[in-house]
Amino acid sequence: MHKYEAVIGLEVHAQLNTATKLFSSDATSFDATPNKNISPIILGHPGTLPRMNKKAIELAIKMGLVCESTISTHNYFARKNYFYPDLPKGYQISQHTTPICVGGKIRIRTSAGERDIQLTRIHLEEDAGKSIHDQDETCTLLDYNRAGVPLIEIVSEPDMHSAEEAAAYLTHIRKLVRWIGICDGNMEEGSLRCDANISIRPLGDKKLGTRVEVKNLNSIKHLKHAVEIEIERLSKLYDKGEKIIQETRSYDADAGITFSIRTKEDAEDYRYFPEPDLAPFSLTESFITSIKKQLPALPDLCFAKYTAEYGLSQYDAEQLTEDRALSDLYESAAVATIHKKQLANMLIGPVKSFLNAESKTWEQIDVSPEKWNTLLTMIAEGKLSFSQAVQKLLPSILLDPSADPEQMASKMDFIQDADARQVENWVKQVVEAMPDKVNEYKKGKKGLIGLFVGEVKKISKGKADPKVVTQMLEALLNEK
Ligand code: ADP
Ligand code: MG
Repeated sequence: MHKYEAVIGLEVHAQLNTATKLFSSDATSFDATPNKNISPIILGHPGTLPRMNKKAIELAIKMGLVCESTISTHNYFARKNYFYPDLPKGYQISQHTTPICVGGKIRIRTSAGERDIQLTRIHLEEDAGKSIHDQDETCTLLDYNRAGVPLIEIVSEPDMHSAEEAAAYLTHIRKLVRWIGICDGNMEEGSLRCDANISIRPLGDKKLGTRVEVKNLNSIKHLKHAVEIEIERLSKLYDKGEKIIQETRSYDADAGITFSIRTKEDAEDYRYFPEPDLAPFSLTESFITSIKKQLPALPDLCFAKYTAEYGLSQYDAEQLTEDRALSDLYESAAVATIHKKQLANMLIGPVKSFLNAESKTWEQIDVSPEKWNTLLTMIAEGKLSFSQAVQKLLPSILLDPSADPEQMASKMDFIQDADARQVENWVKQVVEAMPDKVNEYKKGKKGLIGLFVGEVKKISKGKADPKVVTQMLEALLNEK
């Protein structure tokens, strides 16, 4: 691939979190019985008129603001005409020359560092229905529940150059839409979908090569894989001197291939014209400002704060900003404790495992900042062993957030006597003095445990019981 440069542009559709559709009052719920959430408006019956959903416009503007796009003040909707069984009206209401958000950027983090990916536009449009091909032997079934559901389409410039960048870009978009609450980001259910446009060109060339578009990639893993195999396939065609044709392709995850579904249609084929049933609409500065005021602090800002002010590693900060409820929880507890690093470890380690095991979410954790501090201080002072804190006390506190951690610890008889405290201090000393070995251990070199035990034996002048030391070491190393 060193002879060629890959160029990638993504089109991402995000379903907006509104209760009703973009131009009608039908519900948008995902799991409804087929064809329950429909109306004559959605089916395009003669005489019906669409009506705009203001909430959808607000949510689209939110996304534009966080991407630093320019919000268009004068807008109109356009008809995109095409025939397809899942499009009962024969046209889709979209935006053409006046996308609601113009330009903007998404910041990505990859192994090469941070970089901004430029956006072309974000526009509003309605979704189509769903054709179901695999539930009947002879017929295609049609479910119009999804028809008319509001979407934004986020279109990037041809600005990415690897599968890793494309995956980082989509990951960040998913994080952002969830963070600001405009879309649930669920790719399996189709709330977030991605089409990838890929071309290659000889390294150093400025002119773009002919692109292919791979449709409907429904996970970040699939996007990454599809881009990888497309780059490979196009490079081989180029090597052989074969002409690349602009076409739309589909990805087959099981076979690990893409295949052509049609040669590409151009914009002219859609015969766009302004939607005659909807008036053009203008947005005032004060409306846009009022939406801006509702926006929370963004994950990048929290990331910067956690690394710069709290001294967390990039990895920890990345983990904490995966989820807004987690980040909020961390932030509120971090201001109440000096053990900021230990707090991060506790949340992204044992607390996260607890949530997974209990099928709970971060929103459901209700332990006060003071209680986190009490718990972390008890561990830091050696009153409580890390293993007991994590394995026994923590789950009890998470299940009963009103309880007092100190009382609970003494009730459960976890308070360590002075001897145990002394041993734990030796163990901690050894672990802190050998960060490289700790890393190797975590990467799988479990045999190193003997080395750690030996070191504790040395500094304790043989006073520490090797069995107790081994247990403490294992608990500490596996949770840290
Ligand atoms: P359409 O809607 O017909 O697919 P657009 O003009 O909206 O076409 O472009 C779709 C996407 O394709 C954009 O993200 C753009 O960056 C990307 N793109 C356009 N040309 C190329 C190219 N030569 N190589 C890679 N991506 C491209
Ligand atoms: Mg396209």
